[in-house]
Amino acid sequence: THGRTPLMAGNWKSNLNHVEATGLVQKLAWTLQDKRWDPAKSEVAVFPPFTDLRTVQTLVEGDKLQLEYGAQDVSSHDGGAHTGEVTARMLAKLGCRYVIVGHSERRTEHDESDAVVQAKALQALRADIAPIVCVGEGPEVREADGQVDHCLAQVGGSLAGLKPEDITRSVIAYEPVWAIGTGKVATPDDAQEVCGAIRQFLAEEHGIAVAERVRILYGGSVKADNVVAIMAEPDIDGCLVGGASLKVDEFAAICRFY
Ligand code: PEP
Repeated sequence: THGRTPLMAGNWKSNLNHVEATGLVQKLAWTLQDKRWDPAKSEVAVFPPFTDLRTVQTLVEGDKLQLEYGAQDVSSHDGGAHTGEVTARMLAKLGCRYVIVGHSERRTEHDESDAVVQAKALQALRADIAPIVCVGEGPEVREADGQVDHCLAQVGGSLAGLKPEDITRSVIAYEPVWAIGTGKVATPDDAQEVCGAIRQFLAEEHGIAVAERVRILYGGSVKADNVVAIMAEPDIDGCLVGGASLKVDEFAAICRFY
């Protein structure tokens, strides 16, 4: 076996203030316990807005919850005069284990290039935070059957110059843009096609040992009723979940897919 622990990541996007975050995290922890969830079989992480992170940290540490958490974005800068930016070191101080970089909403709404995503991933790694690097094709690319080339170019650009040990610690999320928030989930075969190609690319670029350790997630309209088929694919090591991560029972069922 490959020994990669599945990661179920809930991206809250711009939803829930810090008071609402408390409710969701507590209910999630109770529901997972109820369902006899085993963290060794699926690691669960939530991604609240920046303003909720301190509250989530207090809750997770105070109640010794076995949940991980992280941020949805990070600055590409170290610190200093960059008004409005939140640095990786600040996130590390808040106990973030992960940070999402290059989500398609950031790539489109904030024009983030692969170079910017790479700089953010590097900042995260320097602060000992694992970046979850998002890639994925839009509908036109999919229609032209260009999804593999498109995603491999994004992976190559977003991980450019990273050391093998940094790549090993990183997570890659394949999220076809046409499947995000649309209810149109990729078929397990379609998701595996790209995730398998990403692992093969990593093996060619960085060696098999690195490629076998990197976790590759699928994201795009994951629900409790499609997660089992997706997770059965050999190169899919977890899911990045948007909408369904705001519904406690649904997300807990996704986390308890096994
Ligand atoms: C996402 O934005 O990362 C995502 C996968 O969203 P949804 O699950 O709502 O499609």
